[in-house]
Amino acid sequence: MSDLDAKKIQLIMDLRREGIGDLSILNAIERVPRELFVPETFREHAYDNRALPIPSGQTISQPYVVAYMTAALELTDRHKVLEVGTGSGYQAAVLAKLCRRVYTVERHMDLLREARARFEQLDLHTIVSRHGDGAAGWPEQAPFDRIIVTAAAPETPNKLAEQLADGGIMIAPVGPDGGHQWLVRIKRDGDRFETSELLSVRFVPLVSE
Ligand code: SAH
Repeated sequence: MSDLDAKKIQLIMDLRREGIGDLSILNAIERVPRELFVPETFREHAYDNRALPIPSGQTISQPYVVAYMTAALELTDRHKVLEVGTGSGYQAAVLAKLCRRVYTVERHMDLLREARARFEQLDLHTIVSRHGDGAAGWPEQAPFDRIIVTAAAPETPNKLAEQLADGGIMIAPVGPDGGHQWLVRIKRDGDRFETSELLSVRFVPLVSE
């Protein structure tokens, strides 16, 4: 067994111990080679349970946070999911193992280009991506069963929540850049939006024009 494979198994066990109990999510994480999503110099740390830097001053989220957010989405293989903040493409790749289609938006063209090459290389053909401001969502493709935001907005992104289908769930980090942020869950019930706070987190900022 390679060093990375051993580290991957260790990571899966750590995630289980930390409360990620859904086997389909652990399985998805096992099937996505995180080493392909991090810069060459961090490859040996690909299965450390921590966030790592990616180009353009951004970060690939900690595996625990990826697993936690994925679990909070309560995905099925029928779901159409919007991701705001493609970054490396790692979270989108994990989602693609669990849902019908992923629509992902990134504002940095260089990151998006690299992410697209990874989707191609890994045969992830159910991921559709777009360059632009994801804070506006993807109106042409709305509504979405699920929305996941992977950059922190200072306030709950209500505009995005309006692109949720009835009964839909959005998971988003909310709070000031570098300050106290919470992972927030918004559930749509008709015209009502029910918000709850899940977990204290730290994300790069959602930058919107
Ligand atoms: N999900 C990513 C995490 C990337 S970090 C992964 O798995 O690697 C957050 C990303 O959100 C960054 O790439 C950043 O450029 C992007 N971002 C920030 N504001 C954005 C916006 N308004 N629209 C689209 N992408 C945005």
